[in-house]
Amino acid sequence: MKKTLIFIMTTICLFACKDEKKSTGLELQTPAINDFNYKVDVFADMEILRYRVPEIEKLTTKQKELLYYLNEAALQGRDILYDQNGKYNLCIRRTLEHIYENFSGDKNSDDFKAFEIYLKRVWVSNGIHHHYGNHKFVPEFSMDFFIDEIKKLPDAAFEKIGLDAEKLVSVIVPVIFDPKVASTRLNQAADVDQITTSASNYYENVNQKEVEAFYNSMKKSDDETPVSYGLNSKLVKENDKIFEKTYKTGGLYSAAIEKTVYWLQKAATVAETEHQKSVIEKLIEYYNSGDLRTFDEYSILWVADTLPHIDFINGFIETYGDPMGMKASWEANVNFKNTEATKRTEIISANAQWFEDNSPTEKQFKKEKVTGIAAKVINVSILSGDCYPTTPIGINLPNSNWIRAVHGSKSVTIENITEAYDQASHGNGVAEEFAWSKTELDLMSNYKFITDNLHTDLHECLGHGSGKLLQGVDPDALQSYGAAIEEARADLFGLYFIADDKMVELGLLPNEDAYKAEYYSFFMNGLMLQQMRIELGNNIEEAHMRNRQLIARYVLEKSADDKAVELKTRDGKTFVVINDYKKVRQHLGDLLALIQQIKSTGDLAAARNMIETYAVKLDPALHKEVIERYAKLNVTPYKGFVNPVYTPVFDADNNFIDIKIDYTENFVEQHLRYSRDYSYLPSFND
Ligand code: ZN
Repeated sequence: MKKTLIFIMTTICLFACKDEKKSTGLELQTPAINDFNYKVDVFADMEILRYRVPEIEKLTTKQKELLYYLNEAALQGRDILYDQNGKYNLCIRRTLEHIYENFSGDKNSDDFKAFEIYLKRVWVSNGIHHHYGNHKFVPEFSMDFFIDEIKKLPDAAFEKIGLDAEKLVSVIVPVIFDPKVASTRLNQAADVDQITTSASNYYENVNQKEVEAFYNSMKKSDDETPVSYGLNSKLVKENDKIFEKTYKTGGLYSAAIEKTVYWLQKAATVAETEHQKSVIEKLIEYYNSGDLRTFDEYSILWVADTLPHIDFINGFIETYGDPMGMKASWEANVNFKNTEATKRTEIISANAQWFEDNSPTEKQFKKEKVTGIAAKVINVSILSGDCYPTTPIGINLPNSNWIRAVHGSKSVTIENITEAYDQASHGNGVAEEFAWSKTELDLMSNYKFITDNLHTDLHECLGHGSGKLLQGVDPDALQSYGAAIEEARADLFGLYFIADDKMVELGLLPNEDAYKAEYYSFFMNGLMLQQMRIELGNNIEEAHMRNRQLIARYVLEKSADDKAVELKTRDGKTFVVINDYKKVRQHLGDLLALIQQIKSTGDLAAARNMIETYAVKLDPALHKEVIERYAKLNVTPYKGFVNPVYTPVFDADNNFIDIKIDYTENFVEQHLRYSRDYSYLPSFND
């Protein structure tokens, strides 16, 4: 195995991210893999897919054993995320599941069908709020139906839920049915108390001012290696005292963390290398102590762990769910290297300095010496916590700015997930409905799978790591606009270079027209397609979506004279038309320079202006048109996954000898099994 390149870093690296699939149904390129059925289930705004785990059979017995133990460690924390997403979630999920499994009435009744969809949505979102839009689901079954079914539950169910029937009804019925209670999981509006108006469960009995004061008093301005304050705890006020309840063995979520530790201990015994063993042992130490210094030590070991074939994420990592961006949700995946595809990211990494030097940004904002980025293409074997059932397709970690600056980061593109997206979209009609002509259809059909993956590689592997902040600029200066600006920076870096002759020269693209597939689909998505995810009348909130519209709308506006890109109408329908790809690239380069300047100088006013002008609002008529055209195609806005089922095989002496993989489990079966076999936390945790 070849080690991916690690460069020595001298300047501060910026941000980390977790990038999701655009998932507008426009993924139609690779030849169909005939004997694998990617589609599992469709309901509400979701389609559930399964993913293949290619080449698992080629792992050595020891690697298979390691993979199995890490998979098990990954599944243990599922309950944690439910509780983090809202304090009633575990209680509600258990109640719904007991009703579902005990139901003896008419399964064709409207109430039951609506109830089943609601339960599936709770499983998708790890709670009662939409996984992407954050709003609370509106149940379409009646309150009477629900209360009746609760009353019919056997005594054993109430024991497992932890409340008797009367109490249960009084606690969860308003949470499910009253639109005013817990209406959003995450409120990031500028003019409200984001803590008290968010239903996520990272804080209790404290307001935003108290939270800010608590953490500001901990931070020291001269600390060059600060821990990620607040990352692994709930902040509470009890008896007028504000303090953290830490997620650790013996602390909050102990029952689930102990199980995770148990499987990690087994994994450590079959690690591929001594270094990997030390990584796993450090993670165990951190789970046991909850000490954030130990977490940093772990992250440093993890980022340097590039030799083994198998790798994993397991812990409190991403902070998207906390309005303050400090507290991390629990997530996990286990993966191994796709050796063939990793050659692609190795080429990109090896040329990182060339890209930095040749980017259209001002010299003072460039890195003199580019950061170490270990980039690889992986296939996942299990998804869990905040990576399940909806998952990122690219990940770049760790998140700590100083660790990234000193020790670099690991960046991955998850190819068996992008393959599933792509395969499942064959023949859905989206491209045919929205593309201007056969020219664009052919471009996308020939190249889009390659260019999509390459754009993700460039975004993760170079984009986020490029550029630098000017001395003294606060990394959080752009406040709530920071995430969208950062995503735009990474996307623009990828878009700018995917059209460079260097791509063909390096063998990453087959010819100088291929990039046009990415440009056309990016603009089609940013100007139109992604709007299908937004309800009429609403604005764009999510950072990646804001980024895409920002780029597309900005370039459209700058094309007013040269008509590089325009919206045209034909037969009453709107289409994206790109007349001059080279000029589009120039506009993208100009915008990249501008966005980099905003980031490097921490120009909050300019960031706000950019986002509010281009990224947030929708043209109501176009929005309506997009939704209506999609409605005819039956394409869901969001996709999630089921995991394969793994069964270990032992010999007569109880030695691990093999792992069996099975793809046949459906979405309902999987969640009921997980709730039966991987559920250790009480319904209410404090
Ligand atoms: Zn990103």
